[in-house]
Amino acid sequence: MEKTKILWLSGISCNGNTHSFLNHPELEYFLKHFQFTYHPILESTHTLVEVTNTVTPCDILIIEGALQNEFRRADVLLNEIISKYGKASKKIITVGTCACFGGIFKESGENITGLHFKEEKELENFKNFKNKTISISGCPIHPQTLISTLFMIKKEIDIKLDNLLRPKEFFSHTVHNGCLRNEYFEYKIDNHTFGKKEGCMFYDNGCQAPFTSGSCNKILWNEVSSKTRSGSPCFGCTEPTFPKTNLFVTKKNMGIPQFLPKGVSKRAYLTLAGVAKAFKIDRLEKGLFDE
Ligand code: SF4
Repeated sequence: MEKTKILWLSGISCNGNTHSFLNHPELEYFLKHFQFTYHPILESTHTLVEVTNTVTPCDILIIEGALQNEFRRADVLLNEIISKYGKASKKIITVGTCACFGGIFKESGENITGLHFKEEKELENFKNFKNKTISISGCPIHPQTLISTLFMIKKEIDIKLDNLLRPKEFFSHTVHNGCLRNEYFEYKIDNHTFGKKEGCMFYDNGCQAPFTSGSCNKILWNEVSSKTRSGSPCFGCTEPTFPKTNLFVTKKNMGIPQFLPKGVSKRAYLTLAGVAKAFKIDRLEKGLFDE
């Protein structure tokens, strides 16, 4: 079977998504079906100079890193390279929150953004791009999300997307879904430190999972864990609002968290919280590993 050709361009990036991708346990199998015509780090069939000077084969264009109008690769504007290969490819995938929405680099205030929020006038064929772009956000991306999406494209499966162009298959649930601490969340039992196996981190430690889209607690990282399973709060890295300041602090107004679980009104939250607080459940209050 002919291999699907991927051209992977890098904007303003720490290459974290490449590193995450390399952690996928089935990488060898993946490379039997896909080949990189260009990747800034991995073995490829073409050089960056060939990519910029000619039109090299490209079925899927992947963009990693944030975009800025003046940013160049091999002395050519990245916008121009994206315009050329965006037109030549069947699909465009932005990998990582920087490429999708600007991510950490947008905070520099230097007109840096992601493809999703790019101005129409800045890229040739921009309208056409929107119809074939898939956003895989995350800082970094979950490698399974990228590899599954690539195989879905290869098999011509119709991929349903949300309003930020993310595959619903991976982004329709919140990260809260599947967390082993849900019982603690329900009964409002807090965790006041990091790295513990008990307690919910929503009330004190800034866990953003109840309003962050992603499958971190359903498709585990390295097939074994997730942030909340290892005792670290979710910090909302898949959302356009990432990064927020004070990542590990829950901002509150009169004791009520400023950001509530997706779709839950303040009134509903207060009612449920009041009822939950009325219970005292020793099994949960007591540490799981306390003598
Ligand atoms: S720690 Fe975060 S993900 Fe886990 S139950 Fe609490 S709010 Fe949800």
